[in-house]
Amino acid sequence: MDEKMDAYQLDDTTKHAQTDLHKCPGCGANMTFNPDKQLLECEFCGQSVDFKKDSAVKEKDLEEAFDVAEKWDETTVISCDNCGAKFVISSTEVAAICPYCETSHVRKSADLAGIKPNAIYPFLFSEKNAEQISKKWAKRKLFAPRRFKKSIEANNLHGVYQPGFTFDSNTFSVYDGVLGEVRTRTVRTKNGYRTETYTHYFPVSGTLSFFFDDVTIGASSDFDNKSYNKLAPFTKESIKVYTKDYLAGFSAKHYEKDLKTCWQDAKSVIDNRIRNLIVRKYNADTVSYLNVSTMHENVTFKYVLYPIYLLNYRFKQKIYNIAVNGNTGKVVGKTPVSFWRVLIAVLIGLGLIALAAFLYINFA
Ligand SMILES: [Zn+2]
Ligand SMILES: [Zn+2]
Repeated sequence: MDEKMDAYQLDDTTKHAQTDLHKCPGCGANMTFNPDKQLLECEFCGQSVDFKKDSAVKEKDLEEAFDVAEKWDETTVISCDNCGAKFVISSTEVAAICPYCETSHVRKSADLAGIKPNAIYPFLFSEKNAEQISKKWAKRKLFAPRRFKKSIEANNLHGVYQPGFTFDSNTFSVYDGVLGEVRTRTVRTKNGYRTETYTHYFPVSGTLSFFFDDVTIGASSDFDNKSYNKLAPFTKESIKVYTKDYLAGFSAKHYEKDLKTCWQDAKSVIDNRIRNLIVRKYNADTVSYLNVSTMHENVTFKYVLYPIYLLNYRFKQKIYNIAVNGNTGKVVGKTPVSFWRVLIAVLIGLGLIALAAFLYINFA
């Protein structure tokens, strides 16, 4: 606890230097990142300031990072007393509301933001565009209640960078096992011939070298691998070296799975892919058993922030989340279902069946 407090105080002293960097040269207000222009902009007097952008994102050595990782100390961790979410904002800012539950029960927490991200996919469009995109998406949801569709507004959409780790690894695997191939054969029966399928098993053993590039592991509860895969891909050309300018006016989710845990997850993703590669190499259809032992060399990682616009909608005591990929505009989420809309659809359906039956009985 003491150690945490000390580090937190350190945070406060570094604050002044950064404050100046985000101050508007015109009026002194805080500037925020404008995704449409990719500049820092003042909401009050409209002045904008460019900042240095670097596309040469570097991989980091994994082993080194376990020992000495750079701390993300230009930030403040905010925790929400209402929903329990923890998120990170630039330490020059004050959080007004929680992007997850939209209440103002937020407070500065003594927690630290962990290691510093080294790459970021900046938001490429503003909340206003995210609103248009989400509205279009909701329009196609026939059973979603009108009240829900109406709630989609730029004001309710919050840009939150979600954390993920990507890993590169040079693998070398030694394997042995028994694989099966489904074959057909013709057999003689009492009445003639018949084709049947059977599995032909054969032993395999060997080695496999494969380089894995950017195996990605989502590192927060609402940005796990499943939701990452749904929201992916992100625009590769837009990735930049992380600087705090991109965070100005936005927040980032505090990672819940650390680098070590994510690397364990990445290894099992890689293991599965290696097994698939081996099975495919032999054109096998089934696996009787397959032992694979894999060595990882030159493992590097990137700690990446992914841009997601979130919309949280409360309908009948339940919270529904919509997530919009801030690069591509891909929308993922479930809408609430209106009982009346479903009922009307069912009635129309039943009506059509009845009509069809009537026509059939009377005219067929
Ligand atoms: Zn200004
Ligand atoms: Zn909250």
